Amino acid sequence: MRCLTERVLVIGLGLIGGSLASALRTRGICRTVIGYDRDKDELETGLRLGIVDEAAADLLAAAAQADVIVLAVPVKAIETVLAEILPVLRTETILTDVGSVKGNVVRSAIRLFGCVPNRFIPGHPIAGSEKSGVAAADATLFEHHKVIITPLPQSDSDAVTLIARMWQAVGAQVLQMDVERHDEVLAATSHLPHLLAFSLVDTLAQEQDCNDIFRYAAGGFRDFTRVAASDPTMWHDIGLANKQAILQKIDEFTAGVGRLRKAIETEDSVAMLGIFTRAKAAREHFSKILSGSAYTQNNMMTKDTTFYAQPGGQVQGTIRAPGDKSISHRSIMLGSLADGVTEITGFLEGEDSLATLQAFRDMGVVIEGPHQGAVKIYGVGMNGLRQPPGPIYVGNSGTTIRLMSGLLAGQSFDSELSGDASLSKRPMERVAKPLRLMGAQVETGENGCPPVKIKGGQALKAISYEMPMASAQVKSCVMLAGLYAEGETTVIEPAPTRDHTERMLRGFGYPVDVDGNKVSLAGGGSLKATKIDVPADISSSTFFMVAAAICPGSDITLEHVGINPTRIGVINILRAMGSNLELLNEREVGGEPVADIRIRYAPLTGIKIPEDQVPLAIDEFPALFIAAVCAEGETVLTGAEELRVKESDRIQAMVDGLKILGADIEGTPDGAIIRGSKMGGGVIESHDDHRIAMSFTIASLRATGNIEIRECANVATSFPNFIELAQHVGIRVRKEEK
Ligand code: NAP
Repeated sequence: MRCLTERVLVIGLGLIGGSLASALRTRGICRTVIGYDRDKDELETGLRLGIVDEAAADLLAAAAQADVIVLAVPVKAIETVLAEILPVLRTETILTDVGSVKGNVVRSAIRLFGCVPNRFIPGHPIAGSEKSGVAAADATLFEHHKVIITPLPQSDSDAVTLIARMWQAVGAQVLQMDVERHDEVLAATSHLPHLLAFSLVDTLAQEQDCNDIFRYAAGGFRDFTRVAASDPTMWHDIGLANKQAILQKIDEFTAGVGRLRKAIETEDSVAMLGIFTRAKAAREHFSKILSGSAYTQNNMMTKDTTFYAQPGGQVQGTIRAPGDKSISHRSIMLGSLADGVTEITGFLEGEDSLATLQAFRDMGVVIEGPHQGAVKIYGVGMNGLRQPPGPIYVGNSGTTIRLMSGLLAGQSFDSELSGDASLSKRPMERVAKPLRLMGAQVETGENGCPPVKIKGGQALKAISYEMPMASAQVKSCVMLAGLYAEGETTVIEPAPTRDHTERMLRGFGYPVDVDGNKVSLAGGGSLKATKIDVPADISSSTFFMVAAAICPGSDITLEHVGINPTRIGVINILRAMGSNLELLNEREVGGEPVADIRIRYAPLTGIKIPEDQVPLAIDEFPALFIAAVCAEGETVLTGAEELRVKESDRIQAMVDGLKILGADIEGTPDGAIIRGSKMGGGVIESHDDHRIAMSFTIASLRATGNIEIRECANVATSFPNFIELAQHVGIRVRKEEK
């Protein structure tokens, strides 16, 4: 390690000062580490344990010669020590501290110096333990921990850099914050929990039968109260030093406990479940943030995932693909606005639909789950949503932001919707424009992209809206606003789009009129809670349909698949190619048609795919290309130029991949010409496109060589258990993650 500075003086050689001194010394971050402590035994111990190079007998002499001084004394002692060293401080000496509160340190400096010196950079390592004293010093204490530094506007930038580098050099991650914010955040995340632990243990300890209480205390009590073993003097000091922020947090907490108390007293189960489910979701989200895998950071995408598929195998059995994403979103939205309790099963626990679920929790809806696809929503009625505490974050979900814009336009409160970097580049004016025509006040961000800001309390008026583009999201947004509008709202679509919103509204007992390309509903009605078993996604089911269709000896049943007429192109096309495909047990769930689909192998023949089927099967073409290679004769696809602007250029990705396997295929601007041919093995790039990755996995059933498929991490977004199900039915595939 390169030496950052010459002489570092650590004043207060206890747990934190000793740990920092030891880390600086063992890593060679400065030439000499000098320790000073008013407790001479501590100082001697520090020297004996090799924690410091030198033990200073005279504080003033040591301070006069130091290049960097670290104040590691208790918060209350910082002002005393500063006053002591003030007369000998050189202007070039850099000063920092490790105190758990920053406002009082800054105020001390102002009292003594008249202002905060520009080479005094306050800091706080978020690391420690219940122990104190130099004997507990640990040179690795700060590794992978955060250190917050709170420079002031006048702080010298070289001094800030040096202090930041010093902490980084001992393995910490350095963050900057302003002083007030630091004290507020720490009051909530550290000070309040410590003080509650002290108070709880103290309260229980005063009860007469406290021995019994502690004797039978289970792990939860131990975990919750661990920090009550911390140094009482230190917490006394912190309690006083951060008084205002701590009092505010105690008041907020007391009000929260009051609400819980009342819910228990009045046996208000919904209120109790509300508190517990919101807390559980927040705790899980927080754990994910700590492990670096929160949906906001989408760690999954950065993993290098490769599928290795071996040739051969057959597919047999009965499986159910994950729930339909569009229907999962809408079930949360309408369930939240319904009167009564809606029970959902088969909910897709993907990032996008979870963002919708969290948004409604933020608006006060009590939602239990999801647990293995089961969700229970305690609907609040059409006007029962509450203003969320801040902007609603929807991650990468275009459906959530566009549909919710409509719904929020009709609320009495203001709201804001924001998303991740990629969603923040997608167009929102297509929903904002019709909403404004209805009288809503909607603002979009730069270039008409998110965030979307909506002013509440506007009286919406019904409109008849002719959509300039065929978009199910725009149609749904206008219809959801129409629920709150006066009069009958009509949307006219230029071409058929998915009709899940219309169907589910009817499933919740809301009348919707469909007349050709016109959809109308009257505002002011209400929704009745229902049960929804979310159909399995037909697009995800397609991979197994095609797998069975191309592989001799196969026989597979896919349960509870959504067969919405706007999505069944794949069934029609496979049947036209000669596939032995049966729809069994057809039924309706929450307004959506579903069926079990059984497919047995039968030889396929190439066809000219009718263009009217293209929009109904748009997501299924990568898998259908594999079917076409396994068919006798030629398959021609036209009118599918949209495939070039999906998650990847799907025509090009399939043409390139199939050519590598030796198949006979030609790309055209709006489709492809595919001739029945043999497939060997090879290395395929999926271009981060989940459907390309899954299509080449099933190709292995008819290939003669091994297929390695790269960049498959995105498969998890639409089909988290694809590999497990593929293996279960007999496809010889495995996954490796790096
Ligand atoms: P510690 O183990 O008790 O060490 C503090 C040392 O400073 C003791 O040896 C103490 O001596 C000495 N000291 C007190 N007043 C002094 C003075 N006027 N001049 C010279 N030395 C003096 O405490 P710590 O846990 O390291 O905490 C030190 C600082 O780190 C505090 O400001 C605390 O807020 C902060 N901090 C602590 C943690 C944690 O988890 N412990 C985490 C982050 C930040 P005596 O024993 O004689 O008092």
